[in-house]
Amino acid sequence: MGKFELISLPFEASALEPVISRETIGYHHGKHLAAYVNNLNALLPGSGFEEATLEEIVCKADGGLFNNAGQILNHNLYFGQFSKSAKAEPTGALAKAIERDFGSFEAFKAEFQKKGATLFGSGWVWLSADKDGKLIITQEPNAANPLQKGLKPLLTFDVWEHAYYLDYQNRRPDHLAALWQIVDWDVIERRYEA
Ligand code: MN
Repeated sequence: MGKFELISLPFEASALEPVISRETIGYHHGKHLAAYVNNLNALLPGSGFEEATLEEIVCKADGGLFNNAGQILNHNLYFGQFSKSAKAEPTGALAKAIERDFGSFEAFKAEFQKKGATLFGSGWVWLSADKDGKLIITQEPNAANPLQKGLKPLLTFDVWEHAYYLDYQNRRPDHLAALWQIVDWDVIERRYEA
């Protein structure tokens, strides 16, 4: 067994249907994420990053080490933020910050979806907090993560085609719009307050 392990999903593979199908979860977690874990473990020996955390590799490495570590970190955050019984909106400090920084929850969702829909090629759209707690939405290409910019990542939608093509084909905006149904805001609030 390598240093890094494939995370277990916090839900059944079919739990997020119809927003994300069992088939997509099976490939996305069991094939794509598993491959990134196997690749990173194979690249570690002799790299100088044998004892590093995932976050350290993402912030300091480049090439294949960075690409595979970034994709593991991104997917761990992604798969950890969904629930079949999620509440519809954030509450508490996060809800107040969204209203302060975007005007309203609806305006935040619209901007987040637009940045996901208009990200060219493969990548991720992120909601993050800066050191003062101010919220920011960024588009990150390929395996990039807001940690590299000193931000705290809170919520992410994966816009690599493997995340939606089996269920939505070319309709990325429809996929992004549907994801709000399964975002577990309790998880995002804990990340914000951590
Ligand atoms: Mn993915």
